[in-house]
Amino acid sequence: MKCVVCKNGETKKGTTTVTFDRDGITLVVKEVPAQVCTNCGEDYVDGTVTREILSLAERMAKTGSQVDIRRYVSGAATPC
Ligand SMILES: [Zn+2]
Repeated sequence: MKCVVCKNGETKKGTTTVTFDRDGITLVVKEVPAQVCTNCGEDYVDGTVTREILSLAERMAKTGSQVDIRRYVSGAATPC
């Protein structure tokens, strides 16, 4: 697809690192599948994947965990 940020590049399949930082929680998820712009490097993460990361952050909040770094695995992000 066409990149909406630089309006020049095309995106291609790749991976990115998603950082979630809210309410005192820092969650870093590596190797998240995304469409990455070949021109400016902007990444586009699928809505399903975003929801998985959000639910992971919610679980972190419940366990009182504040910082977590994980590698993305479809369906369940696992600890590094
Ligand atoms: Zn771009």
